[in-house]
Formats: sequence, structure tokens, C-alpha cells
Amino acid sequence: MENDLIKTREDIISDDLWQTLMQNGFQSVIIIDRDENLRYLYFAEKFVKAGVDIKNCANLDELARAISGKLVVSDERGTFDREINYKTMADEILDHNEFARTVHFKAREGRRAFSIRVRNIPGSDGKLLFVIFDISAALDHDWMTDEYARSGFIVKAGELLKKLSLEEHYSLVYTNVHGFKAINEIFGEQSGDMAIFQMRDAIKETLRPVILARLESDHFAFICPDAVLSDENLNILCHREFVKDSKKYRFDMCLGIYPIIDRTVPVRIMIDRARLAEKTVKESSVRPWATFSNEIQITYMRERTFIADLSDSIKNGEFKVFYQPVVDARSREVVSAEALIRWQHHDIGMVSPGMFVPLFERSGQISSLDRFMIWHVMDFCMKRAEEGLPMVPCAMNLSRIDFYDTTLLSDIMSAVENAGKYRSLFRFEVTESAYAVMEKEAVAFLNKLRSMDVKIFLDDYGSGMSSLSTLESFDFDVVKLDMGFIRKIGISGKAESIIRSTIELAHSIGAKVVAEGVEDERQYLFLKGSGCDMIQGYYFYKPLTEDDFMGIL
Ligand code: C2E
Ligand code: MG
Ligand code: MG
Repeated sequence: MENDLIKTREDIISDDLWQTLMQNGFQSVIIIDRDENLRYLYFAEKFVKAGVDIKNCANLDELARAISGKLVVSDERGTFDREINYKTMADEILDHNEFARTVHFKAREGRRAFSIRVRNIPGSDGKLLFVIFDISAALDHDWMTDEYARSGFIVKAGELLKKLSLEEHYSLVYTNVHGFKAINEIFGEQSGDMAIFQMRDAIKETLRPVILARLESDHFAFICPDAVLSDENLNILCHREFVKDSKKYRFDMCLGIYPIIDRTVPVRIMIDRARLAEKTVKESSVRPWATFSNEIQITYMRERTFIADLSDSIKNGEFKVFYQPVVDARSREVVSAEALIRWQHHDIGMVSPGMFVPLFERSGQISSLDRFMIWHVMDFCMKRAEEGLPMVPCAMNLSRIDFYDTTLLSDIMSAVENAGKYRSLFRFEVTESAYAVMEKEAVAFLNKLRSMDVKIFLDDYGSGMSSLSTLESFDFDVVKLDMGFIRKIGISGKAESIIRSTIELAHSIGAKVVAEGVEDERQYLFLKGSGCDMIQGYYFYKPLTEDDFMGIL
């Protein structure tokens, strides 16, 4: 194994990364590719002795579960299982250069800890270097800021809360900086450390915490009296700027505040709750702080329920496919439809995709739902066509995440190939934000579908970062105008001009245009008059159940 490690080091591990590894005394080194396949370079005896069966781990998920099942203390197990996946790690690396987590486990010597650090391997097509360090000795102290580290904080804050006067109310605060990585990028390495020191000093100065810790990277946790949490103080603390040489960078330190009402709540739960509150802070909001509430807790619990229920709900038929007809703008005839998912949840009732699609994209589970959806729709189209019943082409939505699932893509390709003459009944919609981050292979996949008579739609055009280069770089068959724009018809002359010229632009590059979310006659007439080809919206049809859809066909 050692030889293998040395060889690989020469191939792909840069000198400075290697030095960091050596300095810290790694326990295990693993390379993970996009498909979560593992390549072990070194795996410590310690894990093997603890019964972590590494040889049979086919992928990262299995490894994470093997480690968490045998080693990780129970209250951290859930987070560990949830976060150790390619997507979560890669996203965090994008923002912070590194994915770092500390995990505790019970050993005979007492409570010990290891730190997982994951980085990109430059030039390796997205491979990650996953390293496990034993950090038990340095558990309680954060050497960089000279404050408590997480474990020290949890123990000491718990003790302190027992001693603090009951007359004063306290809160636990968690901090996060969006895009912290930019500081190193703009000012050069080590500037991030400087910014962290400055944040530590600012916290101490403005809020005078009774105890302070740095949990990891730019995340601090501290307890301070509620009396200091005035809007004025929070404004001073949150809106920060980093100045070096002649450059200035403004950023927000976002705060999640957990008011400590019951002091017997375990400190790690207080941190979790403050963190949940922080997650609700919208980027670049005027007040980049949020206080934990029951509502936040309920949303969180509901999201956890959704995540846990997904696969059973697919099996139990709780997901229903609805079809929203699309009509020809001139003839008003139904010419196609968009398949839209609905969830009839056994406890909660009907849930709209706005509630769960973004959640499953974050959790990395959306592809299993899209797989269900795509197969259902394809079956439905084929059956009707084979029976000679009237049918129109149906569009299915592909999520950005689907393009990372190579098995899903190749299965879709085979299914389309097998559909023979019925292929043209299938269409796929891709949003522009998804297209923008697509790799070459994914674009090739879309091109191959097009060559097989499957039309590709550009969804929600005009909703975000719409750019001319997207239109230029791929031959979309249809551009779907986002409903945000349609809403402005009759209200904003500027929006109307933009719609008119977008339709013209699409036509001039050979694409057709669907307007989404058309709700009234005025919008319809304007669009028809502007040369829009097709209309989708409540003015004609709402999304229909499969039975109702068959009825109108
Ligand atoms: P989308 O692909 O842009 O779908 C259009 C959405 O607009 C649908 O919302 C549809 O019901 C809604 N809509 C259509 N006409 C009107 C109208 O006249 N007025 C208003 N107010 N709304 C209208 P829905 O079904 O809630 O879906 C929301 C989004 O969820 C979809 O946006 C799509 O991004 C996503 N989604 C839905 N089904 C799937 C799926 O199977 N897979 C994936 N990955 N995403 C899906
Ligand atoms: Mg769509
Ligand atoms: Mg859309």
C-alpha cells in the first residue's frame, strides 16, 4: 500500500498538500471520484481493528455507514451519514477550499476524535482526497485562534451555564460567512487567517461573550448576554470589511441566535439550533442574522421527514404524475404537455414540488425521484401510442443533479433508443442554471438525445442568469419564457419589449418559444401578437391528473 501511496502522490498530490498530510499524521487516505468510487491509498489499523470492514465497501456511502455504524457516537451519526457524500463535500470545497468535519467516537481511552478533511485533487476531473486524522490530543483547543475548539466549548459552556446568574438571559450564537473563500482568492493565501482573527476580535469587542470557540473554518460559536444583542451591535459586527494594501472586500458575517431558555438543553443541540437559524438568513440581506424559532424547528423536522420518507413513498405510489397541457398559440389546440411531480404524502397530504425538489437537490436524492418520473412518463406515452390512442409529446424536467448520475443518463439513453419510432414523444427540460454548470459529457448527452428526435427545452429562461452564450452554445429546440416575465405583461413596457425581442431572438436561431404561467387573456393576446408559438398556463389548463389528461386527449 505504501508504494501505491507514493506512486499516487507523484501523480496527483501536490507538494503542499502532501506536506500538510505528513505534518498532521494521517490515519487514512482515500481518493473518491465523482461516482463515489473509492481508491484506498492507506487505511489505518485502528479502523480495521474497530471492525470497520473496508474491503467490502463498494462506495463512499457504504464506507461512511461502516465507519459511522461502528465508531461515531450516536448523536453525530445522522449528520455524518448525511454529509459524507460527494455532492455535499464538493459544494463545501467550492465555497471553503476544504471540507472539514470533526467526528467523535468512544474508545477505551475515553472520548476521542478524528477529523475528516477533504480537498480537491487539482487536474483530476473532480477527484477528492479524503483524509482522516486522529486529533484526539488537540480536542479542546483551537490552536489558531487560541480559543476553545468545539469539544472544549461543549464541555466548558455546559459547566459555565450552570454557574451563570439566572437573572441574566443568554443566547448561543453561531457564525457563518458566505463565500469566505473569496478572501484568500482576492488577497492571497493566509489572508483568510487574518480575517478570522479580525472576526474573533470583533466578536469579543462588540458582544463580550462569556465563552467563545471556533468550531471550524469561519464558524464561531459563543454565548453572550441577550442585553448586548442590540440591532446596533449586530450591525457593527455583521457588516465587515477586510482591507489589505489598497484592496477592500466587504462581506457579511451571518449569525444564527439561539436564546437559551432551558439551560439543560445539551450545548451541541444549542449549536445545531443556532446553525439552523443561520441557514435561514438570506444572502446579502440587510439584517444578516436570525433567531431560532419553533417554525425553523418545524421546517427542519419536516425536511428530515421528507428525506427519510422518499424511497418508501416512491415504492408506495405516493408520488403522482400530473400533466399540464401546452397549447398552440394560434389554434389553441393541445400540442404537448409537461409532466410535473406531485407528492400525496401519507401524513402531510398533497405537497408541491416547490417544497421538496430543492430539498432533494440539496440532499442529492432528486435523481431517484426523476428516475421514477421519467420511467412512468415514458411508459405512459408508449402504452397510449402502441394502443393507437391519441397522444402528444411529454416534457420531463431534468435537475442539475441528474447530470452527475451517469447511470441515470445511460439508462435514459437506452430507454430512448429502445423506444424506436415513439422517441419523438419524449422531451426534456433543462434550466439555464443547470446548463451553465454542465460538463462536456452532459452536453454531449443532450446532443445525442436531440439526434434521436428528442427535443430539448431551455426552462425558465429569463429567471436568473440568462445569457446569450447559453443560446449560442447549444441548439435548444424550445425556449420557455419564465413566468416572472409573463407576470409583467400589461404592467411594464420594458418587460414587454424584452419579451418581444426574446421571441424574435429565439426564432432567428431556429428555436420555438413557449410562454409559461399565462393566467389571463391579456397576457395570452400579447404573446400571440408577439409571435409566441405555444402557451402553457392556468388560462388554458392547470396541471391535470393522468385520468383527466387522458380525458382531454
Ligand atoms: P417548472 O418546470 O418551471 O414548471 C412550471 C411550474 O409552473 C409548475 O409548477 C406549474 O404548475 C406552474 N404553472 C404553470 N402554469 C402556471 C400559471 O399559469 N400560474 C402559476 N402560478 N403557475 C403555473 P410546479 O408543478 O409546482 O413545479 C415547480 C417546479 O418544480 C418546476 O418548475 C420544476 O422546476 C420542478 N419540478 C416539477 N416536477 C419535477 C420533476 O419531476 N423533476 C424535477 N427535477 N423537477 C420538477
Ligand atoms: Mg419545467
Ligand atoms: Mg419553467
